[in-house]
Amino acid sequence: MNEKEISAPAETGLGDGIPNSDIQPDVSPHISEQAPQSGEVSPLPSADEAQPQDAAQYSDAAGVAGKPQFWDFVHPVSFALFTLAGFSAVLLFAFYQSADFADFYSRHIGSVFRFVLAKLSDPFPFSVAETIIFSLPIFVCAVIAHTVRLSKQSAAKNCRFIMALLSILTLLFSLFVLTFAAAYRGSTLEEKLGLERKYVSAAELAATANALAKQIEGVLDEVRFNYGSFSVMPYPLDEMTKKLNNAFEKVCEKYPFVQPMRTRVKPVVLSELMTYTHISGVYSYFTGEANLNVNFPDYMLPYTAAHELSHQRGIAREDEANFMAFLVCIESDDPYIRYSGYVNVLGYVLSSLYSADPAEYMKVWRAMDRRVVFEFASYSEFFDKYRESKVSKVSETINDTYLKIQGQAEGTRSYGRVVDLAVAYAKVHLGAAEG
Ligand SMILES: [Zn+2]
Repeated sequence: MNEKEISAPAETGLGDGIPNSDIQPDVSPHISEQAPQSGEVSPLPSADEAQPQDAAQYSDAAGVAGKPQFWDFVHPVSFALFTLAGFSAVLLFAFYQSADFADFYSRHIGSVFRFVLAKLSDPFPFSVAETIIFSLPIFVCAVIAHTVRLSKQSAAKNCRFIMALLSILTLLFSLFVLTFAAAYRGSTLEEKLGLERKYVSAAELAATANALAKQIEGVLDEVRFNYGSFSVMPYPLDEMTKKLNNAFEKVCEKYPFVQPMRTRVKPVVLSELMTYTHISGVYSYFTGEANLNVNFPDYMLPYTAAHELSHQRGIAREDEANFMAFLVCIESDDPYIRYSGYVNVLGYVLSSLYSADPAEYMKVWRAMDRRVVFEFASYSEFFDKYRESKVSKVSETINDTYLKIQGQAEGTRSYGRVVDLAVAYAKVHLGAAEG
């Protein structure tokens, strides 16, 4: 998740930065690009099989004819993986050509791959993806050691080794296409939900913020807070996951394009370090896991987990996963999960309202329950330690560019789809009326 700023009023003494979260679209693919897949090194020849000279190697592998054969240079498993990558490339092209095909594929075929991967990694209580990434240095050392040994051997064996390494990389590409890529190319979430997304005015933002604040007031008395500080999630992560899975079941009934699945959320062991990257969760498509940075404050955990679980269930685009996480959280029977959904989206809306109309923002801020104000203020304090990093600078630039690309008519503009969708949703379902 990449942080966005909500500006705090001067009276809080917090300066102008209460960040809220967003997740960078390509985080999971990028992280996973580094990861090796298990079992793919097997085609490599062992040291004792190595032949000292090219000619000897050819006669060994090619039999009496003494001529090198295709399979001396490429192991059949590597060849199969290259073929799969070729097929995946054609499939990816087809996703770009037709949103209907991408929708069909993601819902009926990609869902099967996602389900299988998620269920394979689900029995492990830890993040398999994180373990693979931790193991990368060992893998790299093994590759270097093997390369040194092989360099003295035949060209065919060297070639086989390189092909094996390349085929691992192509497997990552194939897995991405087979499981997740179609979800980026299909119809948008607002089309699926039948919501109308328009540019919104500051008054609409204020009305939405007030409507969300009102919903929060409805659950506040059931939420426990540390005095003048963060709210506290009253159960452990496993319990939270169970409740989110229950909420997802209701959402799947309402919106059949959401894939039904019950899985666990994986806490990231190095969550504290991960916070410096401003990433609060990652869906690793190659293991099918929803990974959660548990260093972030409690109120963000259910919402972030719902975001990652949304990816796992076929909602690829970041802002769509954000909005789906909101829909899932507010569907929950549990007040803390509903609270998490409302507060996180309120954060996005307030951030946009501050940039659209600071005076209107101040009105909403002053009218909000102090407990919610403390929640945001505590977040700002928490995040100070992590705020100044190169990653955050990059994400701010991307956000600014994005808003400019959207184009802005006077008095109205787009604040990113999660805010636009929240405004559209609040009008229809929360009775948000411009005051
Ligand atoms: Zn995401």
